[in-house]
Amino acid sequence: MPSRAEPAREPEGRDVVASARELLTQAKSAIREAQADEVQPRLDDADVVWLDVREPDEYEQGAIPGALHLPRGQLEFQVEGRIPDKARPVVVYCAAGVRSAFAAKTMTDLGYTDVVSLIGGFNRWKDEGRPWKTPRTLTPEQRNRYQRHLLVNEVGEEGQLKLLDSRVLLLGAGGLGSPAALYLAAAGVGTIGIIDMDVVDASNLQRQILHSMDRIGERKVDSAKKTLTGLNPDVDVVTYDVRLGADNILDIIDGYDLIVDGTDNFPTRYLVNDASLLKRIPVVHGSIFRFEGQATVFDPYNGPCYRCMIPEPPPAELAPSCAEAGVLGVLPGIIGSIQAVEAIKMLLGIGDPLVGRLLAYDALEESFRTFKVRRDPECPACGEHAAPIVIAEYDDLCMPHALAPTVATSD
Ligand SMILES: [Zn+2]
Repeated sequence: MPSRAEPAREPEGRDVVASARELLTQAKSAIREAQADEVQPRLDDADVVWLDVREPDEYEQGAIPGALHLPRGQLEFQVEGRIPDKARPVVVYCAAGVRSAFAAKTMTDLGYTDVVSLIGGFNRWKDEGRPWKTPRTLTPEQRNRYQRHLLVNEVGEEGQLKLLDSRVLLLGAGGLGSPAALYLAAAGVGTIGIIDMDVVDASNLQRQILHSMDRIGERKVDSAKKTLTGLNPDVDVVTYDVRLGADNILDIIDGYDLIVDGTDNFPTRYLVNDASLLKRIPVVHGSIFRFEGQATVFDPYNGPCYRCMIPEPPPAELAPSCAEAGVLGVLPGIIGSIQAVEAIKMLLGIGDPLVGRLLAYDALEESFRTFKVRRDPECPACGEHAAPIVIAEYDDLCMPHALAPTVATSD
């Protein structure tokens, strides 16, 4: 048996195993490094990606403003999803410039053409008094709750923080408002306003899944708040137990990023349309009737508005409100969920929202159809020659209404 002092054999191939220092030297010879003085002027250039490859605990204590955080260990598998354009200029940095050199080498190997590694890393950057800030991050509880969002590049931590900062107003805590509110709350939309002046009735429970037997007789907004707060404590639910009218709509919608319209009558839809145009707040519209539903997005002045699509409401006898019309209980679940999807896409600025498109669903046929909706240049509300918008009270009878208020009879 060989003794400890006499190894059986010399390690083979010693000369081809590189030391860490040699690897670093190799990496550095294959990439470009840059001094802080050279790259700092590019902080304001929106095209430049600042990529922070440190570990989460290092990043959370301070980072270069606007940096994309992707720890070195996840780089190979995630960078192409996070930075799809391989020609985009990237400044990659770590704490001292070693990990970033390896990261830059990896990215060059992956085909990125304009990557530089910051010499001295974040530590020297900070010591030299250059701009940095403590990034806002999700708490460990939030990281766990929204894990499946974080795994989707289009959402990620940045998108989740955006959702948590978002404010969505739901018009109605009924058939459409219920699924929309549940999914928006579950997704972590930070502020959800709900306006509804009804009380929970047993006949609502066939479709209005925010409510339950023990809430019968309760204000719908209070019932909704209990359900949503119980689902996600991150959500601030703001309730409006009032009738939406010309006197209050501008105040109520002010400050919201988006409106999800689940109202069931024409006068309110026109009122909402005109007010949302004035305040330039997008409206995610949904409607249901028997076995059919529709959804679209009205993005003020970027797409058609409700008046472009339906210049005049149909006569009252052809347009019964939900109080009178029957509806399959599942139907609002489908349309309200589509509204929630569209709301999240609009908030995150991803995908192709239903702006200028009307999605029509037929439950009996089990079919979806999409129709183009064009902006009407002569639209009395959003057209080129439209008169200033007047927010006026509409009558309750779903009567046709133009910008000049009609005289309503009271008998
Ligand atoms: Zn219009």
